[in-house]
Amino acid sequence: MGSTFADHALEAAAKDIIDSPKGSLSRMSHLAFHVFICRSNNYGVLVHDHKSGLTSSIDAPDAAEIKRQLDYHGWQLSHIFTTHHHGDHVDGNMALKQQYGCTIIGPAAESGQIPGLNTPVSGGDTFTWSGREVQILDCSGHTKGHIAYYMPSDEAVFAGDTLFSLGCGRMFEGTMEQMYRSVTQFKVLAPSTRLYFGHEYTQSNARFALSVEPGNAALRERAAEVDRLRAEGSMTCPSTIGEELRTNPFLRTGSQEIRRNLHLETEDDIEVFGQLRRRKDVFSS
Ligand SMILES: [Zn+2]
Repeated sequence: MGSTFADHALEAAAKDIIDSPKGSLSRMSHLAFHVFICRSNNYGVLVHDHKSGLTSSIDAPDAAEIKRQLDYHGWQLSHIFTTHHHGDHVDGNMALKQQYGCTIIGPAAESGQIPGLNTPVSGGDTFTWSGREVQILDCSGHTKGHIAYYMPSDEAVFAGDTLFSLGCGRMFEGTMEQMYRSVTQFKVLAPSTRLYFGHEYTQSNARFALSVEPGNAALRERAAEVDRLRAEGSMTCPSTIGEELRTNPFLRTGSQEIRRNLHLETEDDIEVFGQLRRRKDVFSS
């Protein structure tokens, strides 16, 4: 079948979502994005190109569950895109590599900590996966070498534990400056970009967000939607960059309401960000 512009536009417009036993599948252009929850609150994501047959897993939290999801769809795993070295993101690497012979791509700065790493990459690198460009974003802060994967032509970004819906990752190995820069770089992506993130923390993130910006109507609406989704056992991933720009306090350091509530009305954005991160650390514990 010819890959004309019209074909592509038609397929892109025909987005559909199909429920599977424990996940949901979206089809955009030639790619299918399958999202599921594993371990207790980790998000698994499988990206499948039905033309090339390639399938990539974003991180590998749980080899057995990823295999189950692959089997359900009849997909073979060709790649793993590793975001960072934490065990709940790499525990499945070796078992999946042994089973599928997949290629593992991951952060060069953590190369000694990524089991089975084949292809180290760093912020600013690009590579081609299944005929499309993948850009690497440097997201140091949560860990020292954390990276995100951005597919501009498919309007999808895989943020790992750097940017969550309504929140951001904890800062374990980096500085506040690094974390601030890592999180704010997502603000320039197209608002329609789908944001895939590493954990289902959205409901507790919403409670924190409301505590610092209760007057934000879009946030109140999103929080109610999140409560409804979680009550029915549905997932909050993916979000979109546009939704996060309207609701995520860590992307809203310019908000006068947030600044008033933090008593930081004239401080730099990074001061507001740092205070939000410190407050959230206490809020969630
Ligand atoms: Zn992590």
